[in-house]
Amino acid sequence: MSTPASPSSSLPFPRSRAAVESAGAVFTAPETTGSTNADLLAAAVDQPHGSVLATLHQTAGRGRLDRTWSAPAGETLAASVLVRADLGERDRGWLPLVAGSAMRDAIGRVLAFRGPTVCSDGPVPDDRAVLVKWPNDVQIGGRKVCGILCQVAADGSVVVGAGVNLTIPADRLPTPTSTSLAVAGAHGDAAELADEVLSAFHRAVLEAVARLVTGGAAAETVRSRVRSACGTIGQHVRLELPDGTVDEAEATGIDDDGRITIRDRQGVTRGVAVGDITHLRYA
Ligand code: ATP
Repeated sequence: MSTPASPSSSLPFPRSRAAVESAGAVFTAPETTGSTNADLLAAAVDQPHGSVLATLHQTAGRGRLDRTWSAPAGETLAASVLVRADLGERDRGWLPLVAGSAMRDAIGRVLAFRGPTVCSDGPVPDDRAVLVKWPNDVQIGGRKVCGILCQVAADGSVVVGAGVNLTIPADRLPTPTSTSLAVAGAHGDAAELADEVLSAFHRAVLEAVARLVTGGAAAETVRSRVRSACGTIGQHVRLELPDGTVDEAEATGIDDDGRITIRDRQGVTRGVAVGDITHLRYA
């Protein structure tokens, strides 16, 4: 069980707090907690759309399939955003991808001001590109800087949780394939970086959800943004399916249900809804 977040939060997050509260939502920032997702899931029924719970010290974060999420205290952001919106089943299925694309834009924006790394839909050197590995790992130069986990609350709202490596130094990165904003060249302390990333992420998520609710061409811009942010498309990938089957294939796109489409070695194309992807260029 995680410790419930204290509503009397002491961390500053000035930009994020102002953005969330001016939209009539609740902003909570405990010094430490077990899991921001668990806390926001527990509080969801009482909080409005767009509410946020964030900390720089998460002690028991989890990834997909209950995988461990490593979060060195004071060097990582853990943040969860509550999405309560009138979305159809298909658009709800896009939310995890939308979250990855929103975080990619947020991180790219922060790095544009604070470092040499580039977030662009045009040509960028591989080692500086901020892109999403399907479905929603955000990578800088092929290294993971952010993991995302979306969970459905009891009232049907969705908690979009993100863990971002802020100032972890190169010699203490949690895995051989991870990175942090600082390692990518961003300057600033963890609190500044966290606040900038979170305020940009919150805005991007809420704008994308509003467009999905509007539907039609507005929703299509969100899906195109997800596709252009996805660095998996066009890559030779290793794909491991939940049943343990492993295959190598070309990733060719994201279909209208948010599945990654792959062309296997026999030339057969199909959509995959759930699986672990490795970009073989970076393996
Ligand atoms: P992947 O595709 O990287 O295996 P995933 O989407 O299945 O990730 P997530 O839920 O995003 O999984 O995150 C869990 C995985 O991320 C862990 O299995 C571990 O490999 C990796 N990981 C754990 N902590 C960190 C971190 N702070 N930074 C980068 N990677 C991490």
